[in-house]
Amino acid sequence: MDRELVVIGGGPAGITLAKRLGRRMDMAVVRPEPHSMIYCAMPYAIEGLLPIEKTFKKDELVTGSGAALVRDRAVRLDLEHRRVYLAGGPELGFRHLVLATGARPFIPPIPGADLPGVMGFKTQEDMERIMAACAAGLRRAVVVGAGSIGVELAQALAARGVRVSLVDQKPSILPNLVDPDMVRDAEAALDAHGVELVLGASVTALEGKRQVQRVVLEDGRRLELAENDGPSPLVVFAVGVVPEVSLVEGTEVEIGRTGIRVDDRMRTSVPGVYACGDCAEFVSGITGKVVPGKLATNAVPMAKVLADNLLGRERRYPGFYNGAATKVYGFFIGGTGLTSAVAEREGMGVVTGEAELTTRFPIMPDARPVRVRLLFSADSGRLIGGQVISGEPVTAQVDLLTWMIQQGNTVDEVVDLSYSAQPYQSFFPAANAVVAAAEKAREKLSPLPASEGLMSARR
Ligand SMILES: Cc1cc2nc3c(=O)[nH]c(=O)nc-3n(C[C@H](O)[C@H](O)[C@H](O)COP(=O)(O)OP(=O)(O)OC[C@H]3O[C@@H](n4cnc5c(N)ncnc54)[C@H](O)[C@@H]3O)c2cc1C
Repeated sequence: MDRELVVIGGGPAGITLAKRLGRRMDMAVVRPEPHSMIYCAMPYAIEGLLPIEKTFKKDELVTGSGAALVRDRAVRLDLEHRRVYLAGGPELGFRHLVLATGARPFIPPIPGADLPGVMGFKTQEDMERIMAACAAGLRRAVVVGAGSIGVELAQALAARGVRVSLVDQKPSILPNLVDPDMVRDAEAALDAHGVELVLGASVTALEGKRQVQRVVLEDGRRLELAENDGPSPLVVFAVGVVPEVSLVEGTEVEIGRTGIRVDDRMRTSVPGVYACGDCAEFVSGITGKVVPGKLATNAVPMAKVLADNLLGRERRYPGFYNGAATKVYGFFIGGTGLTSAVAEREGMGVVTGEAELTTRFPIMPDARPVRVRLLFSADSGRLIGGQVISGEPVTAQVDLLTWMIQQGNTVDEVVDLSYSAQPYQSFFPAANAVVAAAEKAREKLSPLPASEGLMSARR
């Protein structure tokens, strides 16, 4: 059957396209899995906070928008004759084709990586496998990768009574989100809840006979997994993802290091063929260089930009800023833009400003600390990164900081932020954590004259 538009992939990018275009174009979304997943919620289903069904997205998100849903896997493309071949059904013809095939977990090709018990964490099957193991009395697991997914999974497993080690080659948790010293309390909380942190350690091999029994680290240490009873231990890799680009390998569609190359309207190198979401490669909105950005909060806006362009409304995607957040026990942690380590790697001089206030007036019940760190370019004075750790949700602050970065705000402009205050919802009107952090940075960038100098100037 021929369609005006075929979208391969039913994740956030594919669903967004269906919602935007389903009533305006004759379109089909191809997706093999029984349910699209709310991936972000999977750790919380494992923890037992929600039933597994709550992590399934409804097919009506696609079908209710007027798009056809084809439950199948695309196995081959013929871009010249504009056809998609499916594993189970008849081929689909298209005028426009969107690759929204996402990404799969990266499992490093180290010895033992193929042992039973070694897995990634992305699909419904992955979640069900971990849940089944927990239900059967899983006692031991190692999570490799202390980014948001690894940290959330480790907490979920610990809550299910599993002895968990969380390993990362970097010296701190959440290394791509915030600077190391921002997470010391969160690391202590993981430790206090029985999650063993093994930081600054690369996994070089996995050992075992019929199942994984040992994780070998670069420094020679070994994490033993074998337990006398219960189900086989698990080693779960959450060290990043690989874009799912196999369909276009060997075609005219250009592929970069981190995904399918697209321009700022999501066009690939082949006319009429587009890509968006985790399978696509894009640049940082700050540095203009290719950066990872495998987030649903990047996939959805990319798909919206594409949808608008397909409808004739010209729009350009501004780039990845990678605002993101997670939760480590009582700590809500978020970051956006560049971390200090990335800025250093980019050779950018950075001036930071930091402030710690409270989430409510400090005289109010349940006021909790909130700490904000801002990173400004030493050359331009522009905001290039922001980090927040708080006892209450941080996404609103992270989004505000992302917007300021997007607008190219300088330290003087951030200092000028007009804010609100209320006893249950902020610090006293006298201060705002973002403004206070910017004021600290401004002092470093352009210090006021010393008071003595002022006096002598007045004389
Ligand atoms: C545990 C977990 C927690 C996460 N938490 C967050 C979070 O808190 N915030 C956030 O922003 N992001 C989060 N993410 C990342 C987010 O889920 C992804 O960035 C997002 O799903 C990418 O959307 P996508 O549509 O590009 O790809 P995907 O969601 O990966 O969807 C790809 C789709 O393509 C289909 N497909 C692939 N190949 C074929 C083929 N050959 N034929 C047909 N269909 C195919 C797949 O089956 C799937 O339907 C999390 C991810 C995980 C795993």
